[in-house]
Amino acid sequence: MSTPSPTPPDDPTQPAMAPGDEAPAGTPGTGENVCPDCGGSGLLDGAQCAMCAGSGTVVEGIGGA
Ligand SMILES: [Zn+2]
Repeated sequence: MSTPSPTPPDDPTQPAMAPGDEAPAGTPGTGENVCPDCGGSGLLDGAQCAMCAGSGTVVEGIGGA
């Protein structure tokens, strides 16, 4: 029997995404924005911000929807 996992831990077809990303970087209709959690510093309370994975930016959808 096989039980496919909805989110494989190491799927090469999935670009690395931070938890705060709405889409992989480079996705049409999306753009990088300053992380609302850490304000772009990548740090939260002296630790790596979990929302942006320390990058200071998150990918968000842009344009009216
Ligand atoms: Zn952040």
